[in-house]
Amino acid sequence: MTRNQSLFERAQRHIPGGVNSPVRAFRSVGGAPCFFVKGQGARFIDADGKEYLDYVGSWGPLILGHAHPEVVAAVQAAAADGLSFGAPIEAEIELAELLCRLVPSLDMARLVSSGTEATMSAIRLARGYTGRDLLIKFEGCYHGHSDSLLVKAGSGLLTFGDRAGLAQGSPSSGGVPADIAKHTLVLPYNDAAALTEAFARQGGQIAAIIIEPVAGNMNLIAPEPAFLAAARALTAQHGAVLIFDEVMTGFRVGLHSAQGLYGITPDLSTFGKVIGGGMPLAAFGGRRDIMEKIAPLGSVYQAGTLSGNPVAVAAGLATLKLIQAKGFYENLTARARQLCAGLTAAAQKHGVAFCAQNVGGMFGLYFTQTPPTNFAEVTAADTEAFGRFFHALLNAGHYFAPSAFEAGFVSAAHTEADIASTIAAAEAHFAATGR
Ligand SMILES: *Cc1c(COP(=O)(O)O)cnc(C)c1O
Repeated sequence: MTRNQSLFERAQRHIPGGVNSPVRAFRSVGGAPCFFVKGQGARFIDADGKEYLDYVGSWGPLILGHAHPEVVAAVQAAAADGLSFGAPIEAEIELAELLCRLVPSLDMARLVSSGTEATMSAIRLARGYTGRDLLIKFEGCYHGHSDSLLVKAGSGLLTFGDRAGLAQGSPSSGGVPADIAKHTLVLPYNDAAALTEAFARQGGQIAAIIIEPVAGNMNLIAPEPAFLAAARALTAQHGAVLIFDEVMTGFRVGLHSAQGLYGITPDLSTFGKVIGGGMPLAAFGGRRDIMEKIAPLGSVYQAGTLSGNPVAVAAGLATLKLIQAKGFYENLTARARQLCAGLTAAAQKHGVAFCAQNVGGMFGLYFTQTPPTNFAEVTAADTEAFGRFFHALLNAGHYFAPSAFEAGFVSAAHTEADIASTIAAAEAHFAATGR
């Protein structure tokens, strides 16, 4: 038995499924998950001493790669001065100022510890601000695991949730009361007509739209610009709040996030992943008149013992400083594009139905002829072909997310030669399995 296998056996005795987050299990692709012991740059090493090029990046945060020396130094310096005060520190102001400067739709921001908290708080705020209950989300978008948002929510739920419960407005997880799920209206992604119709019918009851401006939790689905524009126009017209969930896309697709890339100004936005640089840190923010409704200024309650934690804030500040370097996103985007183009060409050469696309530093791989544009198309892809691809690449030392329903990530530490080595490994696999 390998050390990974024996650790997995031991883990399953006292941790449900052996993992502390379901997407880490290899349930949909089979086999035991790798337990990791050390990461450096674009690579990490598992418990059996095997090294991998990492295309998961802790599911998005590691835009600088593993253990970037400047981030580690900032964390060590902060930790030496105290792990938590439960009282304000100057670095929190710096981080809020920086977020508001880089993302102009933010007048104010509040720091929390996870993306789930950020989205949960943003929808509570939108409901408190509008005095309405109804929430619109899109099929296959994931916004964390709070009750209102576990309705037709992608990735982990696509793999493990209650598929029988995937009817409109019904929860995609056990334990979510139907009474809560009924306040969430689920519409297809990239369907401006369905959105327009929903507002025509119930516009006066809709508190908010929450959307991943690039969907990254049902593989990667690129937004049609007219769809995002419709979401902006309809919310403005009907007095509803437009929430961009940028927990994944924030500082991942560009320095000004997806809203900068597509030129849309949401009312509220949520961030996580990259802004914590690998530490538990997230944020929500937006228009001043809405943000001033939060306690202690307003009546919408939101709090956190470890919110604005000094060590997490130090990691976030160090990360956000480094991503502002000249050419950072051009380089990151070029690496993701190189990967997508190289994999697609290799598949074509061997007659494999496969395509790939990137938005900035995130990418999608699809065992289909053309990139999907919504949830229904994503779920039609060949998941068995993905499973074979996953294991072949894993075996060759290239670590992709263990599910066909996840976006992938490159970091600034990935070199042109690194990407070329992954394309070569994929080509060997396609050559062996293609026509
Ligand atoms: C990851 C993610 C979340 C949840 O963040 P956690 O930190 O895992 O709670 C919310 N929304 C989106 C778009 C995400 O990708």
